[in-house]
Amino acid sequence: MARRKIIAGNWKMNMTPSEAVELINTLKPLVATEDADVVFCVPAIDIIPAMEAAKGSNINIGAENMYFEEKGAYTGEISPAMLTDVGVKYVIIGHSERREYFAETDETVNKKVLKAFEHGITPIICCGESLTQREQGVTIDWIRQQIKIAFLNVTADQAKTAVIAYEPIWAIGTGKVATTEQAQEVCAAIRACIKEIYDEATAEAIRIQYGGSVSAASAPELFAQPDIDGGLVGGAALKPDFGKIVNYK
Ligand code: PEP
Repeated sequence: MARRKIIAGNWKMNMTPSEAVELINTLKPLVATEDADVVFCVPAIDIIPAMEAAKGSNINIGAENMYFEEKGAYTGEISPAMLTDVGVKYVIIGHSERREYFAETDETVNKKVLKAFEHGITPIICCGESLTQREQGVTIDWIRQQIKIAFLNVTADQAKTAVIAYEPIWAIGTGKVATTEQAQEVCAAIRACIKEIYDEATAEAIRIQYGGSVSAASAPELFAQPDIDGGLVGGAALKPDFGKIVNYK
């Protein structure tokens, strides 16, 4: 069975709540499609007004992060129950910016992934290599390690519903997109790794996105690759161009 595409925007630390409402009202008609799941991952404070603004449309509102504990003395963090209480169904886990600036590790990613599943939230699990790692030829080994740790103690049934975002760090926010061949090669290696951990059925079901300077121009070729099931989009998700990315065909 063909996998349904999933195209997600990562707003990062952009858009005040009132700007978020304005942007959703602008994008709503542009991202309308029945062919893909469309997710806007927005800053925590934007989630409630974004949900309100997206009502009646095909836009799903997701979070950009979540903590792995249930509740308690974790000043500044957002719990999974806070997200599900307002209807959030997707959360980005382990974005490279969180790994770089907020000390996230493969281990905390794994804890967050397990917690997201416990609460019925679909994690969009990010992985990706640095430019040095690519130049040293260790990309596939590195990504396999990230995937193996992220999925520790995750069941096959849970893994089938997960989303993995392959985001080469050197391509994020740089305007430098991985070639179609580079993106497909790593996404295929991720699927093979999932097959090794679980089985063929899980590998066939899991959705793998490419992320890193995706644009309206690069999306059609990238998303046509056999192992690329959509994209995680940063900069272009804040512009009307996101409509073209969602309706890339
Ligand atoms: C991202 O933040 O996940 C991302 C891919 O950003 P950009 O599209 O701007 O490179």
